[in-house]
Amino acid sequence: MRKITVLNIWLVISLMVSIFGFSYPLSAQPKNPSPVRQPLKIFISVDMEGIWGVVHGNQCSSDSPEYQAARKWMVEDVNAVIQGLFEAGATEVVVNDSHGSMRNIMASELDRRATLISGSPKPLSMMEGIDSSFQGCIFVGYHARAGSAPAILDHTISGAAVYAIKINGQEMPELGINAAIAGYFKVPVIMLTGDTETCRQAQEILGQELVTVPVKEAVGRLAAKNFPREKVLTDLKEGAKKALALAGSSRLFVLKAPCKFELEFHTSQQTELGLLIPGVRRVSPRALAFETGDYLEGFKLMRALISLASVS
Ligand SMILES: [Zn+2]
Repeated sequence: MRKITVLNIWLVISLMVSIFGFSYPLSAQPKNPSPVRQPLKIFISVDMEGIWGVVHGNQCSSDSPEYQAARKWMVEDVNAVIQGLFEAGATEVVVNDSHGSMRNIMASELDRRATLISGSPKPLSMMEGIDSSFQGCIFVGYHARAGSAPAILDHTISGAAVYAIKINGQEMPELGINAAIAGYFKVPVIMLTGDTETCRQAQEILGQELVTVPVKEAVGRLAAKNFPREKVLTDLKEGAKKALALAGSSRLFVLKAPCKFELEFHTSQQTELGLLIPGVRRVSPRALAFETGDYLEGFKLMRALISLASVS
């Protein structure tokens, strides 16, 4: 009996391959590989005050007759962005309704290729749905921080409770607070839309290279010059295409831990219930502060303190 050696096995297999055209499973390659489409996922958070046409709180409140028109403008703005994204190669778009009740966008009116996260409360609020699988994050319809002028409906999270929010010493609009959540998941913010002052604040915090699309210019807190509708919708679509093309080189916005949160409220009373939470201290009659090693944990505690201020 002949001794079977590795060399013999190799020779037999080679012979079979040459006769029958067998190939080794490990080196199997399709003859005409179809191009693999890489997943290209984009997350969009949509607020309402920075939507084209919106200049007054009544337009953003569901109990006002003016609301129905504004929610249509809202879905038109975001659909223009979605259209640009898909035309530029996005494979998945997730839209998070981020204003008030978070039930402003009618699901049936959103671009049918996109996923809609609707309703509230949500653990990550305006950023619910983001995770590290996305390649970019877009803010649509955002507004300037409390204390900006002229800027349409400037406020930070709660106009009734919050005077200012500082994180690591920097006063933050919602766009900065939310960009840091995206950064936490290693997702860059690639585009923002809103009034001209909000666009300026976004570039100041996130970098001058950020793609911004101004849809209106405030002339007061409740009055604005709305740019021509046709041009705005084209700018939103083209802006999204440009943002996607630049996504690979976009900067991450990451706040270094430990993070110090300082919340200044309108009244001293609005700090009182928050003081019941361990680790939270009063740093002035109207302001609370706390530190955390985890930004997301800090974001959640900040939201809880604002909710407590609102019931005080
Ligand atoms: Zn809002």
